[in-house]
Amino acid sequence: MFYRIISRKRDKNKQSGYKMKEISRIIRKLYNSYTKMPMKLRFLLVLTFFVLLFVFSVSINQNVVNEENQNNESNNIKNGRENGEGRPNEVDNSTPITKEVTVVIDPGHGGEDLGATKGDLYEKKLNLDISLKMGKLLEDLGVNVVYTRDKDIDVGLDERVNIANRINAALFISVHNNYMPNDAGYKGTETLYCTPVDTDENKMDGQKLAAIVQNKLVSTLKTVDNGTIYRPNLVVLRKTNMPAVIAEIAYMSNSSDRAKLTDEGFRQKAAEALTEAVMEAFKFMKVEKDESGEWMFMD
Ligand SMILES: [Zn+2]
Repeated sequence: MFYRIISRKRDKNKQSGYKMKEISRIIRKLYNSYTKMPMKLRFLLVLTFFVLLFVFSVSINQNVVNEENQNNESNNIKNGRENGEGRPNEVDNSTPITKEVTVVIDPGHGGEDLGATKGDLYEKKLNLDISLKMGKLLEDLGVNVVYTRDKDIDVGLDERVNIANRINAALFISVHNNYMPNDAGYKGTETLYCTPVDTDENKMDGQKLAAIVQNKLVSTLKTVDNGTIYRPNLVVLRKTNMPAVIAEIAYMSNSSDRAKLTDEGFRQKAAEALTEAVMEAFKFMKVEKDESGEWMFMD
């Protein structure tokens, strides 16, 4: 055993010694032929050598610079995504960039715009009252709430949309009440939506939100169920970037609905139903409270 190992080592030493000799022989040969060359050719050869060396070093340098640029670029893209920059109007309807969750509550009409009226009953006032009650309930649950108006003022439809889009709201809930001019018998609750139906069943959209809101309203208020209605031409539904609905709580033109609406307990119940709808939508959207008590997208 020992002998074998030693002999192998010797072989190796022999081999590498042979290689070294071979290399030095080749170098000597090259040097000899170099010295035998005419002066001009020798000069040209040295020059070519240095030119090649220069080109080689420049190309290596260029590669390093390119690599650095690529790294910077990918960093910029990453930072841009994290800050939500550079994608102002191509926001996906159901995946907000920011992780914190805000619900925008939009009390219909206001100020000069009374909405529907019946005697001294103004739609704008009913809408605001239900909205403020709803906002209070949501805030009690720790949800960030932003109102498009929280007092009796006129706010343009585009401004209402901008408020929600600017803060990247998770949901947009508009509160209205209805009026049927020529049919006092018509009554009940309906929820309007517009967002195109998302083929992804796991994503919240206007239609899904409308179904949840409508369900909670009619089961809580025991009003007539007029269902959800696709309304593609309403500004606050069409231009908002997030799942949005208009909840038409009841008909001011119908005497029994009107009696309900003038009852504060009914308006409180409407606010509770809307709050429950938001909670159910949150569950679907995987919005949960984190350790610090903030409602966040968990996906
Ligand atoms: Zn209205």
